[in-house]
Amino acid sequence: SCRWARAEAILKELEEKCATPIGKLRQVADAMTMEMHAGLASEGGSKLKMLITYVDNLPTGDEKGLFYALDLGGTNFRVIRVQLGGKELGVIKQEAEEVSIPPHLMIGSSNELFDFIAAEVARFISSESEEFQLPTGRQRELGFTFSFPVRQTSLSSGTLIKWTKGFSIDETVGEDVVSELTKAIDRQGLDLRVAALVNDTVGTLAGGRFYDKDVVAAVILGTGTNAAYVERVHAIPKWHGLFPNSGEMVINMEWGNFRSSHLPLTDYDDSLDAESLNPGEQIFEKLVSGMYLGEILRRVLLKLAEEAFLFGDTVPPKLRIPFILRTPHMSSMHEDTSSDLHVVASKFKDVLGITGTALKTRKMVVDLCNIISSRAARLSAAGIAGILKKQGREFTLERQRTVIALDGGLFEHYTLFRKSLESTLAEILGNEVAPFVVVIHANDGSGLGAALIAASNSQYS
Ligand code: ADP
Ligand code: MG
Repeated sequence: SCRWARAEAILKELEEKCATPIGKLRQVADAMTMEMHAGLASEGGSKLKMLITYVDNLPTGDEKGLFYALDLGGTNFRVIRVQLGGKELGVIKQEAEEVSIPPHLMIGSSNELFDFIAAEVARFISSESEEFQLPTGRQRELGFTFSFPVRQTSLSSGTLIKWTKGFSIDETVGEDVVSELTKAIDRQGLDLRVAALVNDTVGTLAGGRFYDKDVVAAVILGTGTNAAYVERVHAIPKWHGLFPNSGEMVINMEWGNFRSSHLPLTDYDDSLDAESLNPGEQIFEKLVSGMYLGEILRRVLLKLAEEAFLFGDTVPPKLRIPFILRTPHMSSMHEDTSSDLHVVASKFKDVLGITGTALKTRKMVVDLCNIISSRAARLSAAGIAGILKKQGREFTLERQRTVIALDGGLFEHYTLFRKSLESTLAEILGNEVAPFVVVIHANDGSGLGAALIAASNSQYS
């Protein structure tokens, strides 16, 4: 029919606009490398902030003692304690608790948010078993994983540049988040020192390195996306501080804000951006991360409803609600292997209130999921290739093994996304290099990583 032909034309156009042939991916990787250089050269030199983290040593495995971590970066925060036993014993015991943040605290006052967090930390510490031992006379020490853009002033201080991911507390912006946390800890009467402030990418890098000495970069693909990697201090012109013994510095790229004329952007992406809370910002994140993939799909489905009447003569009202279709819905439809695609049918019914879709329509939905998620996964792989190129690891001259630690709900739970990312990275690197580059899942490595960084920055070591 004429309607179906129109629907197929819309699909075809999307497919063409989202195409990421290998040549385009190489251009994206090269653009990433170039922006990295520019961001390292001067403050504000690039869309990539390339933030200096003051982490100039990554875990060696020798870390010993009881350390804590606090991970704040989304709707939940986690408190972790870990008993480290050094080279021989490694992680002796680790415990974590997750607490969800009441939404009103995400947009309330700074004191209320940090008091809530500090109270939970106090509760966590008061419930400690005897397996966790703090030598007498020692103060407890904590690594604070804070996954928002921060301009660090030392390993244990930094001012908030802006809130993201639904947080909005104006009075915290420009403040030192460690001092905010420390004041709240003091108000609880708790004896605890914040020894390190780290981004979740940096924590993941540190946690990954603890288990595998060849880890040189970390990427988060969750609600948002970001990356951190190990840079040579000589290659950071904007660094005017002391030259660390290691000669290295971990850089928090804030790569979600990457953009380039080579990115395959469609009208759907442009309108999503224009109607977002942060128009013009985080363009790479809006193409790639879990917060947005389902929303891109919704926008395509809405167009199909409006212009090809794919779901009947009227537009199903729920299809007009932004963010109603989440990326986990999209992945379960994409990964529906049943012959009648009944998962697609049930998501359409439960989430969008659409019933009675034809099998060919459901097949088209799976195709749409594939187009949107492949583009995201392939662009993520190109970003990683850009980092490897910056590190000079895109050749195997020295046959060195290179490991990238990945984490985040999108990478962890969306299997087809993950497979596409891995195969695309191998495709970009080529047969010679690909066998030396390994992607690992650093499951919840950021909390452990923050505790490890606190350990290596302990006042007692
Ligand atoms: P955060 O990024 O908020 O710290 P996570 O790393 O756990 O938290 O990532 C959560 C995000 O991962 C969700 O917002 C969602 O976009 C994505 N995600 C979670 N589960 C799935 C899934 N099954 N399929 C696709 N994406 C998922
Ligand atoms: Mg996270």
